[in-house]
Amino acid sequence: MDEDSKGFNFLKLEKKWQNEWEKKGIFNVKEDSKKKKCYILEMYPYPSGSGLHMGHAFNYIIGDIYSRFKVMRGFNVLHPMGYDSFGLPAENAAIKEGVHPRKHTDQAIARFIEQQKSLGLSYDWSRKIQSHDEEYYKWNQFWFLQLFKKGLVYRKVSMVNWCPKCKTVLANEQVEKGNCWRHKDTKIELKSLEQWFIKTTQYAEELYNEIDSLDWPERIKAMQKNWIGKSEGVEINFKINGKDWPIFTTRPDTIYGVTFMVVSAQHPRLMDLVTKEQRKDVEELLAKIRSTSEKDLADLEKEGAFTGSYAVNPMNGEKVPVWAGNFVVADYGSGMVMAVPAHDQRDFEFAKKYNIPIKVVIRPKVKELKPDELKRAYVDEGVLVNSSKFNGLNSKDAINEIADYLEKNNLGKRVVNYKLRDWLISRQRYWGTPIPIVYCEKCGIVPVPEEELPVTLPDDVKFGEGNPLATNKEFFETKCPKCKGKARRETDTMDTFFDSSWYFLRFCDPTNKKEPFGKKKVDYWMPVDFYIGGAEHACMHLIYARFFTKALRDLGYVKINEPFVKLFNQGMIHGEDGAVMSKSRGNVIDPMEMVEKYGADSLRIFLVSIASPDKDFQWDSAGLESCFKFLKKVWTFFRDYKPGKTDEKMESKINSVIKSVTVDIENLRYNSVVVSLKSLFEFFEINKENVSRANVELFLKMLNVFCPHITQEIWFILGNKGFLAEEKWPEADESKINKAFEEAEKVLEKTIGDIQNILKMLSEKEEKIEKVYLYALPKEVEIYDKKIIERRIGKKVEVFAVNDKNKYDPEAKSTKAKPNKPGIYVE
Ligand SMILES: [Zn+2]
Ligand SMILES: [Zn+2]
Repeated sequence: MDEDSKGFNFLKLEKKWQNEWEKKGIFNVKEDSKKKKCYILEMYPYPSGSGLHMGHAFNYIIGDIYSRFKVMRGFNVLHPMGYDSFGLPAENAAIKEGVHPRKHTDQAIARFIEQQKSLGLSYDWSRKIQSHDEEYYKWNQFWFLQLFKKGLVYRKVSMVNWCPKCKTVLANEQVEKGNCWRHKDTKIELKSLEQWFIKTTQYAEELYNEIDSLDWPERIKAMQKNWIGKSEGVEINFKINGKDWPIFTTRPDTIYGVTFMVVSAQHPRLMDLVTKEQRKDVEELLAKIRSTSEKDLADLEKEGAFTGSYAVNPMNGEKVPVWAGNFVVADYGSGMVMAVPAHDQRDFEFAKKYNIPIKVVIRPKVKELKPDELKRAYVDEGVLVNSSKFNGLNSKDAINEIADYLEKNNLGKRVVNYKLRDWLISRQRYWGTPIPIVYCEKCGIVPVPEEELPVTLPDDVKFGEGNPLATNKEFFETKCPKCKGKARRETDTMDTFFDSSWYFLRFCDPTNKKEPFGKKKVDYWMPVDFYIGGAEHACMHLIYARFFTKALRDLGYVKINEPFVKLFNQGMIHGEDGAVMSKSRGNVIDPMEMVEKYGADSLRIFLVSIASPDKDFQWDSAGLESCFKFLKKVWTFFRDYKPGKTDEKMESKINSVIKSVTVDIENLRYNSVVVSLKSLFEFFEINKENVSRANVELFLKMLNVFCPHITQEIWFILGNKGFLAEEKWPEADESKINKAFEEAEKVLEKTIGDIQNILKMLSEKEEKIEKVYLYALPKEVEIYDKKIIERRIGKKVEVFAVNDKNKYDPEAKSTKAKPNKPGIYVE
């Protein structure tokens, strides 16, 4: 340890204060109607076996700074932490290593907690929750039963996404470009299975409409809107084999151009449409397209087969062939679409491929369109042709006119359609919440009575093929709650996104044994005021949690409409080579190693100093080193500190910093705050004799939210009792901010920048510079503080007034001086 850092044993002092905070429980909170509440939450992590990575640390530190700030601003702050501890990785690790998932998970959580504590995070640890605790997942089962009673949970046979690596089905939201969200190189297979679904679609409209009211990143809002996918259109009744088939379209203006229909190859009633002659063709198609998912429809090669059936167009009585196709989704609309090859590119490609006629019904105002000459579909606005009495109408107007006509003649109706699908929650895996359902031979599907909850997840199961829960006879074989006859339990478990859909509510009342939470407590704390996490949750967790909140509101459990008022996505940290940190690249920096080497305070301030926290940034060892040096300087300064007498300039500076820092933290411009605090500290160093005890304390309070340990230790050494974290945040006295001083400071900064540029240029030419001369207008001489400039540029400095008769000015640079811009000479 060098002389400067004498006594700066950061590891020891960090541990000491972490223990003190916990012992005194200073971050534990209760409802307090006298105080304004603020609920700050970082997405609760999946406790992976490898511990915290840098992205976790960044996420938590962003929330921690804001949380500490809000506490000092007088808010009653709830800042809890928990673990999304059910899930496949623990189960897979267990299979691989032979450790029980429970043991694996408990060990991983213990490690997470220890590491999180070492970052000095201000959590209310008394509120910790873990989704694999019986006391937690019992309420998952409770919600399942409430939703079931409300008709929001149902069971149905359908084509579902199956990941052969996960060995379980996945929700639509968990399929990315046709691949598994966990196994990005594994194609999803389609299977027909009977599964449990949650009716998220019942809330599609509200979920869609309320996005605009949220203070969320625009990008996430757009992703959700797109995922929910609202479209307004018309449902038109086509007749097939004498039966009505309502089909949905947003383009009724093209109805006279329909030359065929396409039914989804996954449609459960497809075979009803297939004639004997066409059976072989259709079956061949089905065999070919086993792996299709909604998300990669756009890139897919369009394939189809004629079913042998014809549909009757209600507008003109025309009969058009019905094809089965791989690009129509089974549960979008009615699973069938009308095809207008002249005006839809996808239909156009399909018609060309299978030699189906093309009929033009819209053309540009000035040009005729001939079907044979079309190179691609004409999708723009235009004038209607070949459309009977609608000929000559502008296509945009025709949408309404034709919709009106259809409604008037009972041939169809206006409807709103959504892309959002119901949420498939069954999983054929072990490490999750057992679904509280019993199957009885006599009574059928019977929900487990509430008073019998929880249905406990048994420890003793065999992993391998099939559902592990089916290997535990004691669990599997049960009695029917209704008739007491022989019955079997559901052996699927719930998607773990179920757990994370309401955990933020449980944090309000985490130890309640009688109910999922006390309503009063939730009314006090909710909604979450500030929610921080990664952008990858845009279309999964964040939709499910919004759905849950709305459903629970309608069940009478909460009063709010939306769970997260403000959402913040932190940026990604890239390795020093510029690439995303990953083990295979070998560019991963372990946060715990950095804490060991530089201390948590250095890491905390470094992570938020490089860029605005919502921006990606590149790891920079030198930057961390320099934050460490800064803290060492702070330590040394206060070790030798003797109270001085503040003056007007010092008061102006400190109040202006308080003012800007307060606004900047509120707006998460943490990097600007770090600049301001460093500049204030430098001002202290230069004007040592003017640093009063009160000034020191103001500085420590502000730096505390970034570096809570070192500031607390200095606070203590200065003879203060209690915790800085419980002090009040400084208020700026704006009357003390002197505009002239501020202006002068800006001019000085600008001048230092100019000098640095000159020095840089000259050093590139390898010219040695010893001294810098400045020539200022007489009344500006005071601005150019020699001490400050020398310190910053590391050279000797001389400042003259331009009218000084004795000045040294060999090149008459004093004649170049202008207001706020001195002449500069170097040699
Ligand atoms: Zn998978
Ligand atoms: Zn029964």
